[in-house]
Amino acid sequence: AKRSGRNDFRFYSKDLTASAEERLTLESELRRAIERGELELHYQPKVHLQNGTIFGSEALLRWRHPKRGMIPPDQFIRIAEETGLITELGHWVLREACETATELNADGLPLHKVAINLSAREFQCQDLSKTVADCLEMTGCRAEWIEIEITESLLLNEKDGTLETLSRLRSMGISIAIDDFGTGYSALNYLSRYPIDTLKIDRSFINSTNKSSAELVKAILSIARCLGQNVVAEGVETVGQAAFLAANGCEAAQGFLYSRPLPKSEIMRLPRRVGDT
Ligand code: C2E
Ligand code: CA
Ligand code: CA
Ligand code: CA
Repeated sequence: AKRSGRNDFRFYSKDLTASAEERLTLESELRRAIERGELELHYQPKVHLQNGTIFGSEALLRWRHPKRGMIPPDQFIRIAEETGLITELGHWVLREACETATELNADGLPLHKVAINLSAREFQCQDLSKTVADCLEMTGCRAEWIEIEITESLLLNEKDGTLETLSRLRSMGISIAIDDFGTGYSALNYLSRYPIDTLKIDRSFINSTNKSSAELVKAILSIARCLGQNVVAEGVETVGQAAFLAANGCEAAQGFLYSRPLPKSEIMRLPRRVGDT
């Protein structure tokens, strides 16, 4: 019988109530996915709002499952975290992203920073900064070509070593971005205690038609200005949203208005300005 791909995703859903057996299947499939080359990174361009120049991209993980088709990260990252597979997965992502960054910055091309998502669990592994340093060396990637995206919760549930690890990465020359900014708790003091380069305003503020969301976006832009941090607006889908952001001094954006996440072959071919050929 023909099964719809959509239904197949169901047991991977976020509020996972799947049986232990199903989880074991997924776990062992995921374990083999790396060896079998079923994982891919797609890259979503980040653009300057003023002139459309592409200055970087975010690496987003996909699993091309032989039977289930393309599985988005929300449906397997959590299991990877719970089983500890995230360490191996994360190493694969890091290496792949560094290789791409090296190619995107080859031979005098304009700077293209590749952003890598790291979950809190990946920070618990010892020697994250050494893993990153080794990876840079192995792939010929410069630290300046890499940004790391972390969530507020990592900084709020402060564990031993987080500040040290971030500081070490930062002093290597890697930039640090706070992902989904504004969706965590409202403690803002961590913003000045941690080495942070960029705030990524969560999509929920950008696509809301709510008056107070617009005010919050302005407030975040002004906080970032005061602290000397860059801002990237996430999930920009309409010209109206882009215009509002530009009018309020936001420099950079990411979203379907500009581009969906693209396979490596396509990001490599992309002109450095959206709309150029
Ligand atoms: P995120 O880091 O917040 O990534 C942005 C998500 O928003 C991506 O979903 C992207 O495809 C989607 N997006 C971008 N622009 C738009 C837009 O204009 N409209 C809408 N509706 N969505 C947009 P994706 O690729 O499914 O990733 C989901 C989450 O999975 C990511 O959220 C990130 O937290 C996690 N993730 C992805 N790749 C990795 C990875 O390599 N490692 C880790 N640890 N987590 C990852
Ligand atoms: Ca992200
Ligand atoms: Ca985000
Ligand atoms: Ca997210």
